[in-house]
Amino acid sequence: MRTAGAYLHIPFCVKKCGYCDFNAYSGYKTETRSRYVDALCREIVARAEPSARVPTVFFGGGTPTVLPASDLVRVLETVKASFAVDADAEVTVEANPGDATPEYLAALRAGGVDRLSFGVQTFDDRLLKSIDRIHSGEDARSAVAMAKAAGFDNLSIDLMFALPRQTLADWDRSLDAAFTLDVPHLSMYALIVEENTPFFARRERGKLPPLPSEKTEAAMFARAIERAAQEGYRRYEVSNYARPGFESRHNRIYWRNEEYFGFGAGAASYLDGARTANERHPVRYAETVAARGTATVSRERLEPREAMGETMMMGLRMADGVDLDAFARRFGARAETVYGDEIEFLTRSGVVEIEEGRLRLTERGLFVGNEVMLAFLA
Ligand code: SF4
Repeated sequence: MRTAGAYLHIPFCVKKCGYCDFNAYSGYKTETRSRYVDALCREIVARAEPSARVPTVFFGGGTPTVLPASDLVRVLETVKASFAVDADAEVTVEANPGDATPEYLAALRAGGVDRLSFGVQTFDDRLLKSIDRIHSGEDARSAVAMAKAAGFDNLSIDLMFALPRQTLADWDRSLDAAFTLDVPHLSMYALIVEENTPFFARRERGKLPPLPSEKTEAAMFARAIERAAQEGYRRYEVSNYARPGFESRHNRIYWRNEEYFGFGAGAASYLDGARTANERHPVRYAETVAARGTATVSRERLEPREAMGETMMMGLRMADGVDLDAFARRFGARAETVYGDEIEFLTRSGVVEIEEGRLRLTERGLFVGNEVMLAFLA
């Protein structure tokens, strides 16, 4: 019997943000979205494994909350009918603060959702507008208050720094506002201008307002770490901070390189040592599911060395690092042997350490995490 998380992709947004490179689309009518939900339920049923234990369910996007709450609850019920979802499963919905109403949130809570992750990004209305977000700082404050009133105590907010024209003082104000909300989990990321986004094109044309310098960005990152620690949050992953007991159980499945089912347009699954991906486009996804029940379009079996490398890279994202005994049990070889040279070099460089049977980034390593992780690429 396997244990695997379940990810449900909702690829719709009211408006596409200029920096977004997710598989998300705006402008679809209610009927198209509703056909998509039908297809999603059909795919879940077609891939049902009633004996597979599912400890976490995660609705991501896009913006899941553009759908009626009843649609999200119907999808969750379909997952529960098709898999052995734990009675105390963590069930997360990513939410746009502007979509929150007391009735909507109460319907999600009554339907079995126990965790909300709000895409706040910043509380500064001027900056929100500059990154094309459609909510306001006040929407974010009231969404969190409404969520608490609806009975959610497991709440997360996403914040972004290094936004166009953002100053360190702006970032400080966002941090102040975030900590005032007293939510138990925060994700804090720097804006990255990815290729194939409107921001990238604007920057190429010299039309994107200036981004903070590398020095300012590093200062913002350091400020996030320092303030979170002062407020009682543990930085348990490179970009994630939680009060004890509120770490994201679903994301930990990814960081431990464990198995997960992915349903919906473009969703990836990692099962039986293979990674599969679904048709990306929502309309083609729904047509493919209508024709054959599922929508898998690619399958890649990972060689043991690749799976080991990914386990090291992902594991080092977490403050707890890689459990070396668990690695040996899983792969039949010790990481200290397979990656002896790399671990020795990185230990001498002061960026990783082995403590209590775990290989993890040092304080210094946490600032250069990406370069350290690349050392384990197959
Ligand atoms: S709300 Fe999120 S998923 Fe949707 S366009 Fe903006 S960044 Fe992308």
